[in-house]
Amino acid sequence: MDPQTVFCPNSACPASGQVGKGNTGVHSLEEQRYKCHVCGKTFAETKGTVFYRLRSAKDLVVIVVTLLAHGCPLQAIVAAFGLDERTVLSWQARSGKHGLRVHEHLVERPRDLGQVQAGEIRAKIQSGILWMAMAIQVRTRLWLGGVLSTARDMQLIVALVQKVRRSALCRPLLFCVDGCAAYVRAIRHVFREPVRNGKQGRPPLRPWDGISIAQVVKQYAHKHVVAVTRRIIQGTQTQIDTLLRTTQGGGLINTAYIERLNATFRSRITALIRHGRALARQTTTLHDAMYLAGTVYNFCTYHKSLRVPLYLPNDRRRWLRRTPAIAAGITDHLWTVHELLSFPVPPPPWKPPKRRGRPSNATKALVAQWRS
Ligand SMILES: [Zn+2]
Repeated sequence: MDPQTVFCPNSACPASGQVGKGNTGVHSLEEQRYKCHVCGKTFAETKGTVFYRLRSAKDLVVIVVTLLAHGCPLQAIVAAFGLDERTVLSWQARSGKHGLRVHEHLVERPRDLGQVQAGEIRAKIQSGILWMAMAIQVRTRLWLGGVLSTARDMQLIVALVQKVRRSALCRPLLFCVDGCAAYVRAIRHVFREPVRNGKQGRPPLRPWDGISIAQVVKQYAHKHVVAVTRRIIQGTQTQIDTLLRTTQGGGLINTAYIERLNATFRSRITALIRHGRALARQTTTLHDAMYLAGTVYNFCTYHKSLRVPLYLPNDRRRWLRRTPAIAAGITDHLWTVHELLSFPVPPPPWKPPKRRGRPSNATKALVAQWRS
């Protein structure tokens, strides 16, 4: 146990979420607990991870979750390990919710996205049809998250575009989407910024500069593509050509990257397999499965097309393999599933409780001391 590498998870503590400030110590080696000397609370080593208050062996949980994240059927795991179906489902739920927190903490940070492709998957669950909309950053193949809804409507697309916006910097950005008309309105609605002019009332909203939107509409006959129409909805041909060239997304407007990602998710989530029998019972189950598969894809899987050559002396060459998270600069190495599941997500930064009047000198000193 190393108290220098942990943070206090108590969100009411001024030192919460801060590592290496010397405020934590070992409370009990036997119980694997730390203590924060600022708020005086003790906490388990596994707080904020999938293993918190879990009695099962860590190694078994990691193996089972790895299998689930790669599309192994639930019944195969039940048969192979002699576990109860509900136990396996609860591990999947824990890991999915943890994956969402890791995603929000590490992936949903402003970055220069360049080109984003978005698309939807039609999924069947026991109570009917569910739509899963997802987005990918083309240059790094980083999965930007997904949303679920019972209808392929405006609400679904707006929720997805809001997710993309949380990971976007105000730089030239190209959206390549399918023929779903809601995208154009959703992108124009979400990518706006308030202009503070000092007047009373709601500030006017100004659309972001440099947003281009392109559509790829495919026509099908007998389940085969017979024609592809590429349309520029917003932005100029020159702008779009520049973004296509700099984001390594092929010379033509396309949605190939999101289609490939959708195929990966279809093979890794048993509930999404076409004509499959393992339908999810609830929306939350599919949501958990999506975030588990998505974070394992981002952090724990090398992507062949992301490898870069390393030139060694004597004309030798080696390939440096990368995961989408490495390519996006979020981490510097391939994460194991154990590392992902035991990554402690810090609580949001501490804010002093609201009191009437001016803050006291003691509060000011506390804020200054623990400002991250
Ligand atoms: Zn504390």
